[in-house]
Amino acid sequence: MAEVVRFAPSPTGNIHIGNARPALINWLVAMKTGGQFILRYDDTDAERSRTEYAENIAEDLAWLGVKPDRVEWQSKRMGLYDTVANKLREMGRLYACYETPDELDRKRKRQRARGLPPVYDRAALTLTDDQIAAYEAEGRKPHWRFMLDQKTISWQDGVRGDQSIECDSVSDPVLIREDGTYLYTLPSVIDDIDMGVTMVIRGDDHVTNTAVQIQLFELLSGKSPKFAHHNLIINASGEGLSKRLGSLSIRTMREEGYEPLSVAIFAVLNGTSDPVQPLADMNALADLFALDKVSRSSSKFDMADLGHLNARILHETEFDAVSDRLASLGVEGGDVFWLAVRGNIERFPEAREWWDIASNGLGADAVEKSAEDADFYAKATELLPREPWDETTWKSWTSALKAETGRKGKGLFMPLRVALTGRSHGPELAAFLPIIGYQRSVDRLS
Ligand code: GLU
Repeated sequence: MAEVVRFAPSPTGNIHIGNARPALINWLVAMKTGGQFILRYDDTDAERSRTEYAENIAEDLAWLGVKPDRVEWQSKRMGLYDTVANKLREMGRLYACYETPDELDRKRKRQRARGLPPVYDRAALTLTDDQIAAYEAEGRKPHWRFMLDQKTISWQDGVRGDQSIECDSVSDPVLIREDGTYLYTLPSVIDDIDMGVTMVIRGDDHVTNTAVQIQLFELLSGKSPKFAHHNLIINASGEGLSKRLGSLSIRTMREEGYEPLSVAIFAVLNGTSDPVQPLADMNALADLFALDKVSRSSSKFDMADLGHLNARILHETEFDAVSDRLASLGVEGGDVFWLAVRGNIERFPEAREWWDIASNGLGADAVEKSAEDADFYAKATELLPREPWDETTWKSWTSALKAETGRKGKGLFMPLRVALTGRSHGPELAAFLPIIGYQRSVDRLS
């Protein structure tokens, strides 16, 4: 079935890998089912929401390969929320409460002391007109709670299977604050209904909200969408990610030169029954992914693992796929250069460093040649063949050098690598030597 899905971030910060997960999973489900992907900004919190963050989110999603079919802003839809809130009031399902946060806190403490669950006692329903008038005269403004049906709500979760929540142990949720602003719950349900969302996919931190939302869905539209709650990503020290801390933001990964495909694969496959692995593109990821492969325990993100995947992906990337990017980095070596270095870089911008090494100088951090190898380097210079060179040049040169000096293995190759590249690790020299060329090689050996 073609699923209508949505990703609903609050534009209160830049998105991180943990936000990219629901974005991508929703996107893949839309792709797989030939459905529709809605990007909906949950920006009812005017104080913390920023247009600039929303723009960044759209940009980060585009970089990841997610292109929304439709974009919506909750801040432009307030009229609809007001209409529905009034309808709920008329139905007697939205009621005014006047307790202060302190009073509520004291209530909960008393309930706990008596061994009762700290569920809101609906005292507001028994207020007399005089009491209400007295509160209003004091300057108190009401907040509004949704009256739950105290029944069991069950659903078949796309990730977690059978779920059920006893609503008599849930407080009637506040939908509207004293200042008239909406909390997330009601606008989210109204929009999901209005936009024809058929499947809600989000983090499992929303599981307990789901019972309340299902009651609202049924009341307002007579039916509910499907739900799937995926596991959350935690960092290497086991902590949840925070937008505020800017940890593991997609922006940073982009600036640091990770491939969007690596980040997408990692955000989706980590914490599923499939191993994190290089894949050709988003279609391949869509083919592999299924909601029921997502595990229920949290998924640990380690930057080193992303680096490893990124390196594996670059290793298999053909020149045609990167020729424009190489050109924009100022790298001119063509496919010969790319094939020589792709196996030795973890992030794309490192290609530029190898290009500089091949075509310019060795740089300030070059490893020094050892004075003890002076005779060896003299011999190497003498035996260095004249151009034209190809990938067999290295072999014939080092074979001759081996025969002449008696050196072999590391003793033969390492001084050459150090002299030619200024590094003790790097690309296969058979491929890299022709890029350095005769004249630079002679200069570096002497
Ligand atoms: N704005 C909510 C969040 O970012 C959306 C949750 C949902 O998908 O329903 O957590």
